[in-house]
Amino acid sequence: MITGCSSKTDSGSAEQKTTSVGAVSSPSAAAAARPDSPWSAFARLMEGNKRWVDGSLQHPHRDPGRRQFVAEEQKPYGVILSCIDSRVPPELLFDTGIGDLFVMRTGGQVVAPIVTGSVEYGPMTSGTPLIVVLGHTRCGAVKAAYKATRSTP
Ligand SMILES: [Zn+2]
Repeated sequence: MITGCSSKTDSGSAEQKTTSVGAVSSPSAAAAARPDSPWSAFARLMEGNKRWVDGSLQHPHRDPGRRQFVAEEQKPYGVILSCIDSRVPPELLFDTGIGDLFVMRTGGQVVAPIVTGSVEYGPMTSGTPLIVVLGHTRCGAVKAAYKATRSTP
C-alpha cells in the first residue's frame, strides 16, 4: 500500500529549499534535494530499487557531508512500514541513506496504535510526502497468522 501525504506538485522548490539552507554546498547536499510530492518521492524510491535489482547501488547520503547536513534537522521524503524479515531492509532495497526515510518494522507490517503514531510522525513534523506499507513474498508472520486462523475452531 502506498499513500501520498501531499497534493503538491514538483516545481523545483525542493532544490531551492535545500540550497537555501546555505551552510552546506557539497555534492551530497545538492543530492539531498528532497522530493516534495508523493509521486516524486515514489519515483526516487523506485530509482533506488532499480539500482538494488540491477546491482548498481550508489549508497547515497552516507558521506560526512550528508551527516553534517542532517545533523541539524531531518526531512525524510518517505515513511516505510515494513516487515521485520531480515531479507527486506527498506534502506537497502531502495538504496537510500541517512535522513532519507523514516522506517518502522513489525512482523508482517502489522499496524497497532503505537505504530500508527510513528508512521504519522514524519508527515506531521517534517512534511514527509509519502507513506509506503511494504509487504513481501514468503512472509513468515503472514504465514503464521494465516495458519492460526485455520487452526481456530
Ligand atoms: Zn514478513
